[in-house]
Order: sequence, then C-alpha cells, then structure tokens
Amino acid sequence: MVIEPGTSSDAELAPSTSTCASSVSRCGDEEGAGGLRCLPVTSHRCLSCTPGPDRIVDHDRTIVNAPRVFRGPATSLHGGAAAGLVACLADAHLNGPAVRFNVRLHSPPPLLTDLAYRVELDEVGGVMRFEIGPVGSAVLSGWAATEAAEPVVPADIVAELAGHATLSAAEQTRFDAYERPPTEEFSQCFGCGSSNEDGLHLRTRAIDDHRAWIRWCPSERWRDGNDLSMLAAIAALDCTSAFPLQELGVTVEGETCLLGTYDGQIHQRPPVAMKGDFRIVTAPRFRQGRKIYADIGLFNPEGEVFITGCATWIVLAAA
Ligand SMILES: [Zn+2]
Ligand SMILES: [Zn+2]
Repeated sequence: MVIEPGTSSDAELAPSTSTCASSVSRCGDEEGAGGLRCLPVTSHRCLSCTPGPDRIVDHDRTIVNAPRVFRGPATSLHGGAAAGLVACLADAHLNGPAVRFNVRLHSPPPLLTDLAYRVELDEVGGVMRFEIGPVGSAVLSGWAATEAAEPVVPADIVAELAGHATLSAAEQTRFDAYERPPTEEFSQCFGCGSSNEDGLHLRTRAIDDHRAWIRWCPSERWRDGNDLSMLAAIAALDCTSAFPLQELGVTVEGETCLLGTYDGQIHQRPPVAMKGDFRIVTAPRFRQGRKIYADIGLFNPEGEVFITGCATWIVLAAA
C-alpha cells in the first residue's frame, strides 16, 4: 500500500535497537550516514536474492531493485514487500534466522531503480540495522534480530486472532455478505489489487464487528525450496490489515491509510505445503487521531501461528 513520507517516530512500536558495534568488517570504504556500512554476506540465498523475476536484493552489489510486480501504488514499492525484503537482508547478514524485524518507510521507494543498502551488525551478529536508499535520504530503514525480546503482538491477542483461523457459521455468513465497492483504490497493489495479475489478491473482509479474515493459497510462484517465500508471507500481512478498516468502522469514506511503520515477528517459517491453506486474521487494536494500530497474523486452519505483525497506519483525508 502507499507509504507515509517522513513518518514521525512511534515510540510504542519501535523497541530501542541495540547499539550497534562499530567493529564490523567492511566490504568497501564507503560509510553511510549513521555509520552504517556494507558488509559481506553469509551463504544465505532465497527467492528474493537469486536471479529471476522476483529478485529484489542483489547482495553482491549491495543494492535493492524492486521489480514491477511488487508495486503498491503504481510507481512505488508495496510496504509489505518492503518489509518482506528485510527478511532476506537479515538472513544474509545475521548469525541465525531473523525472527523479529522493524521497518520504517520514509518516502515511496521507486520501482526498477538501484537503491544501495547499508547494514550494520552488533558484535555477535544478532542484531542488524539497515538503511536503503541514498545516504542521507534513505527511503527505508529499520532493524532485524535473531531474538524477539518482547512479542510484537501480545500473546492474548495472538491467541484471540488464532481462535478465528477457522470461521464459525456466523462468521462465514458475515464474510459472505461482503459487498465489493464499485471502485478499487489500489487495484494494482501487490497485496490486495485485483488488477495486479501477479499479485496476492488478498482482500480481507469483516467476519464480525472487530475482525477481518481471508484464506490464502499461495501460488507455486512463491515456493522457495521447501518454504514459502518470506517476502510473500510478510507482504501478505501488510495492506490486509488496512483493507477492512472502513468496513470495521475505524475509518470513514474518503480517508486513506498510509503505512508508517511495520513490526513483525516470525514465530516459525511457513512451509510451502501443508494440510489446509493459510489463514490471515486481523483486528485493529486502536485508533488515536490519525494513527491506527492494527494487529495481524498468519495461521494454519488450526490456529498455529507463523508470523505476526503490527502496522501503524496514518490516516489521510481525501484530497
Ligand atoms: Zn535472500
Ligand atoms: Zn494493497
């Protein structure tokens, strides 16, 4: 979905990053703003960084270049795909699989454009800070870690969302009653747009007055070895939390939501094949003025959790 330029800080959602050590190996002399450097990578390779139509990260050149498939608005990167590429950056640099990430969108990342990335690790390689974009005017920044000090979504909320992975008859009836609006605002969007032929087409609908839900059967395209592409899995949890906000009465007609920050936690890597399909369950936590905090999770039909996220959406009035 669209990106909030120059989002202000969200202290509640941005846990303090461990201070990154400066004694890190360097692959060049260039040093970015804030002391971030490019670093040699591990042997990690995934769908997002191996040559092919869905490659978005080139670790050899330390660049990000987003193919058109990952558009949110017509000309810039989908916020969820932006968050998803961080899993690749982190897995390529951390000393173990990333389980926690935070992404802040500063301005719309352009498509089909080489954007340099810079990372810095703590002393043991357990925390990575990153920036993407020109030095001094990064379009994306954030951090990732091999441990989650605190859950992104409180355990009671995760359990509550998980309890709706499989719908009751009443919830199914409410879901089926959804009336598609005559116009679609982000029809090209990778996450939800019906006109993005390679997109995920995930249009969550209300299942009661507080929650929304969608079933997801990822296409073969998002197979990454024995796993589901992490970029696709994380991207599936982005605008899906904003799509139902008006239906749930959190926003009114004419208000548009722009993603500011995204916090995510990877509980376990989603498999490419499992019994049943994936279930996405989301519930807005609260709205405070122009900010909406929304929780979301990726589950199997039994409510086993794979990924949880909390997005901060910024409400803009219609132009
Ligand atoms: Zn990768
Ligand atoms: Zn979307």
